[in-house]
Parts: sequence; structure tokens; C-alpha cells
Amino acid sequence: MNSNPLVRRIGSTGFHRCRNYAPSRVFDGTGQYEGRLPPPVAFSPFPGGKGNEGLYYHVSAGGMPRITQIAYAWKRYRTTVTHRIATLPIVILMPHSACNCRCVMCDIWKGNHHLQQLTEADVSGLLHTLVQLGTRQVVMSGGEALLNRNFFRFCEILRGAGMKISLLSTGLALKRNADRLVQLVDEIIVSLDGDGPVHDAIRNIPGAYRQLVEGIQQIRSLAPQLHITGRSVIHRLNFRHWPAIIRSAQEAGLDQISFLPADVSSHAFNRAQLWDAARQHEILIDREALPALKAIIEQIKVEFRQEFQSHFIAEPPEKIDKLYAYYAAFYGLNPFPWKKCNAPWVSAVIEADGTVRPCFFHEALGNIRQESLEEALNKQSSIQFRKQLDMATNPTCERCVCYLNLPLLAPR
Ligand code: SF4
Ligand code: SF4
Repeated sequence: MNSNPLVRRIGSTGFHRCRNYAPSRVFDGTGQYEGRLPPPVAFSPFPGGKGNEGLYYHVSAGGMPRITQIAYAWKRYRTTVTHRIATLPIVILMPHSACNCRCVMCDIWKGNHHLQQLTEADVSGLLHTLVQLGTRQVVMSGGEALLNRNFFRFCEILRGAGMKISLLSTGLALKRNADRLVQLVDEIIVSLDGDGPVHDAIRNIPGAYRQLVEGIQQIRSLAPQLHITGRSVIHRLNFRHWPAIIRSAQEAGLDQISFLPADVSSHAFNRAQLWDAARQHEILIDREALPALKAIIEQIKVEFRQEFQSHFIAEPPEKIDKLYAYYAAFYGLNPFPWKKCNAPWVSAVIEADGTVRPCFFHEALGNIRQESLEEALNKQSSIQFRKQLDMATNPTCERCVCYLNLPLLAPR
């Protein structure tokens, strides 16, 4: 046993063994070590391996302490007080700017000819900061992330450092990539807009629904336990088909489905110009149709009571009501729904050209091709942004459709 009193004290509450990195090496929460090791001067930071999730991280040389669960929570708390990012549990990467769908509510595919994509050097360059900041989950968003030829290499790099990979996908390329997806991705979230005809019409891709279902089936045949969920944007063109969307999610074999309203007012989703009123109303639910929306929500609550209870529908019924409130707010019938979000303090979005944002919707903080991620997140202007952000009054936050609230004590 190490005779260092600090090691003994912490050791009494439990040492942690890293099975992933070096089975015979035992560390304590101070960066001290015991066992058959030389001093940890040569270690790069690597999180604990699979099966050890949520307990600890190794950190690097020079005696820098390994982060325990408590220390991690403390760092998260400190981030909220100082607005300097000390931990970054979630990172959203956009490996590829182009998309293989042409959805009516999105402009991303209209920029397909201005292709941008992350490189292996970009992702490798992020690794040090991600590990240092204790990142546990990397969400691959897009465009369609699978269009990046290096997608699986990115997964190998990030998973090799203990991070979990969630893939947001159109589903069109799942089938041909199924073999590698089941090996290198921890969770898949597909977009679902309706039953077959409605889904294909909104995606502007004939056969999109069939390809999506075939992809899910292929993955299920290889890895029945892999978590595959759906996400559905509800808007003018599909709200009347809402019950059919839930049934389609069941038929397609999804584990869960979640719903959100359409963003019509931000610069996100490749909108160089904000949408004018006419374009917004192609997607917004008409004022005259709001009673029909309300009736459908009430119908869903009754017809799919069991699906709410089992969490097949991810949101509780009260949150589904907020979807009505969001669309009603455009006509001044009520305020935009209140939301609790800590995305800029717990996550970052890194776009295909290296742009770093505090969330999908706010202005860029920097670019990983000009500075490190840590510098982009913690330079004075970025800290100032977080310090001054008042979500209750900020117009971008007010209309936000896709927010994130990670509790302070969420398991890592
Ligand atoms: S909404 Fe998603 S799937 Fe549709 S075009 Fe945009 S990025 Fe692609
Ligand atoms: S509410 Fe939306 S826009 Fe505001 S910080 Fe959160 S994710 Fe960003």
C-alpha cells in the first residue's frame, strides 16, 4: 500500500482500477498511484474503459489529478459560476456539411455544392481538449455524417479515448454501413417525418422510408441490442399525420420516438438569410389549423397512453403541449414556451468547417482550425457570451426548438 497519507485517505473510499488502459495499474483520486508502476509522467489523459463508465478519468502527467465523480461535478458547478468551461460532457460534431435528403424545412442540402468536412487531423487535434474536459458523449450530426469517408476513423479515435458515439442520421445509408455501425457506434437516432408517403414527400427522396426501415432491420439483425431511436419534427406538412408517425416508429422497430417543432427563425441549418414570413409560413402551422393541432395532441395522449407510460414516446404529455404553445406563440396567443437549457455550459457544436458554436443557434465562438477548442471555448469573448446570456430574454433562446439541459449530477 502506498504510504502517502492522502492516497490512504482517498483510498479508503475506494480505489479505481482501469481495465481498459492497463489492467495492473491502480490509481486514486489524486493522481497518485500504487502498484507495479513507474510514476505517471508519461501518461496522456485517457478516460476509463467500457464497463467503468461514470466513475473516473485518468489524467496526465505531472501529477494532474484524475477526475473523480465528485470532482467532475465540482468542475461542472465551477463552470456555471465562472463561465469558464472546465468540463464539456457533450460535443456535437458535424463531420460533413452535405446531406442525402432534401427536406422541405431545411436548407442544409441546398449548400451541398459548398462541401465542407472535418478531417482526421481535425478530430485528432480535438482529442487532447476533449479528454482534458472529460467529454463522454460525441454526437455526430450533419448534414449526413456517414457521407464523410473518415466517419468510422473518427469513431475509432474518439471511442479509443472512451467516448460514446451517438449518430444522428437520415437513415438512407444505414444498410450499407451496418457492419461497421454496430461495431463503432453506441446509439443511432434517425429522422422520421411520417408514414412512408409523408416521409418520402417531406424528405424529397422517393423510397427514403423503405431505405430507413431496411437499414434499421439490417442493424437489428446484427446487433439487436443497439439503441435506435427516432426524432420527428412536427410542422404544417405532417402534424395531421402525427398518430401515423408513432405507428410507423413502432413498425420500423425503433426503441423510442421524440418530437420537436420546426425552427423557422434562426440562422441554423445553413440559412445565410433569415427566412421571410412567406417562407416561414410554408412550415409554420396556420393560425386557423391550431385547434386541429390541439385536438390531435389530445387524441395522441389518449390513444398512446401506454406509449407515454413506457417512454416509447420520449416526452411526457406536458412537453407535447409545448409544441402547441410554440406554434400558437407565433400568432401572439401565448408566450413561447419556457425552457431550461445549459447547452453553452455543457456542450459545444463543431461544424464541418471547424466553426465552434455554443449551441446550434448562437453565433460562432471560434474555429478549431485557427485555435484549440479550449481556446475557442475559454477566450474572453466566449466567457463574456456565457456570462451575459439571459435565456429568458434572448430572442434566439426564446424561439429555440432544440435545447439541452444536463443536470449537474447527471451520470457521466
Ligand atoms: S433536415 Fe436533416 S435530413 Fe433533412 S436535409 Fe436537413 S440535414 Fe438533411
Ligand atoms: S435555449 Fe437554444 S438557443 Fe438558447 S442556449 Fe439553449 S440551445 Fe442555444
